[in-house]
Amino acid sequence: MSQKVNLPKQGLGKMGVLSKLDEALTKEPDVLRGNMSCYAMKGTEDMVDVVSQAYQKYFFLNGVARRFFPGLQDLEADVTGMASNILSGGADGIVANITSGGTESIFCALHAAREWAKETKPHIKEPEIVAPYSIHATFSKGCQYLGIKIVRVPVRDDWRADAVAIEAAISPNTIMIAGSAPSWPYGVIDNMDELAEVSKKHDLWLHVDACVGGYLSPFVSKLGIDLPKWDFSVDGVHSISADLHKYGYAAKGISTIAWRSEELQKYHFVSPTDWPCSPYITQAFTGSRPASAVAAAWAALSYLGEDGYIAYADRAMKAKARLIEGLNKIEGIEPIDTDLLIVVYGAKDIRVEQIVGGLSEKGWTSGGVMDPPLAHLVLDPLSEDVVDIYLEDLRAVVDSIRAGEASAEGTLSYAD
Ligand SMILES: *Cc1c(COP(=O)(O)O)cnc(C)c1O
Repeated sequence: MSQKVNLPKQGLGKMGVLSKLDEALTKEPDVLRGNMSCYAMKGTEDMVDVVSQAYQKYFFLNGVARRFFPGLQDLEADVTGMASNILSGGADGIVANITSGGTESIFCALHAAREWAKETKPHIKEPEIVAPYSIHATFSKGCQYLGIKIVRVPVRDDWRADAVAIEAAISPNTIMIAGSAPSWPYGVIDNMDELAEVSKKHDLWLHVDACVGGYLSPFVSKLGIDLPKWDFSVDGVHSISADLHKYGYAAKGISTIAWRSEELQKYHFVSPTDWPCSPYITQAFTGSRPASAVAAAWAALSYLGEDGYIAYADRAMKAKARLIEGLNKIEGIEPIDTDLLIVVYGAKDIRVEQIVGGLSEKGWTSGGVMDPPLAHLVLDPLSEDVVDIYLEDLRAVVDSIRAGEASAEGTLSYAD
C-alpha cells in the first residue's frame, strides 16, 4: 500500500538529516551477525574506508556522459581491462563492459545472444534458452523482458547442471545454454566443459553466470584449491557475467559482462539515432549511471591487488572450513559440499524453517533455499569473527527445537 509522504516544508538541516539516518540504521540488522549474509562481501574496515572515499570523490559525475571525463574513461578502461584479464583464464581477446549489477549483466548477455541468433539463426522467431533449475531468477526476469522462453531442467544429485538433460531439452528454437559458477542456491560450479560440448555440438551461445564467483574463483585457485573450470579457458564460452559488487568488494551498483571477442561484443551495443540528439551510445542498458561506482571498483581492485584478493580468499576459505567442520559436528545438520563461499545446509529430522526462525530470534539474517529447504549463508573474510558465535547459536537452536521448546517459524526467503 502506498503511503502519502509530504516533502518537509522546511529542510531538516544537516544534523536533522544525519540523525534521522542514524535512527534508521539502528533498525538494520546487527552488523557482526550480518557478516555471513546481508552484510557479506564488503571487505575489511581499511578496504571499506578506501572504497567509500573513492565513491565520494566521483560523487557528482555521470557515467553516461563519459566523453567529457577523460579521467573516468581511464578508470573504466582499467576496470574493464583488469576484469577481462581476471575472467580470461589465459585466453586472448576478451573484452568487457561495466553494468549496474548482475541483473543487467545477464540481461545484456541474453540480449546479445538474441541479436546474434537473429543473424546466425534467422529462422528462429521464438527464441529459447535452456538452463539448470539452479540458475539465478534474474534469467527468468531477463527472458520475460526480452521475449525469450526459458526452459529450466533439473540438476544432478550433486546439485550441478545435468548436461544430458540440458541437451535433451534443446529445441529447434534454442539459442543459448547457460550455467553458473557457482549457482546461488546450491553454491556449486556447473560442469562447464560438458555444457561447452553440448553448446558447440548444437552451435549455441554459452553463457557462464559467475556473478557471485567470478572475482573469487581465480584467487581461490591460486591458493592451490582445485575448482571445476568455468572461465574463458573453456572453449565454447561466449560470455561471462561477474559482479564487482560481490567478491570484487566494490560498492554496490557495479558488475561486468565479458565477451569472448570484440566480434561477439558487437551484438551487445544498441545506439539509437532516431532522435534529435547525437547517436545515443551507452556501454550497457542503463543511461545515467554513477561514475562513483566505477571509481569505487577501481579503488577496490587497485587497493587490494592480486595478493590482497588471494589473502581475502584464504581468510574466507579458512573460515568456511571451520564452519563446515562445526556444522558436521551438529547431529542432523547436513551441509552441501559447495565449491566456494556459499554455505548451505539441510537438516535430517528438524525443519529448516524452524532453525532459521530460531536463528533470526538470535539476530541472524540468513536467508534460505526453498527447494529443497536449506539454510543459506554467504561468507567473506570477516566471517572468521562470527563462525564460532554462529555455531554456538545454531547448537542452542537445534537443542531447543529437539527439546520441543522452540516454535519460531522462519522464512527461507531473501526477497522483498
Ligand atoms: C547476485 C547474483 C545475480 C544477480 O545479481 P544482482 O547484482 O543482484 O543483480 C545473478 N546470478 C548470481 C549467481 C548471483 O549470485
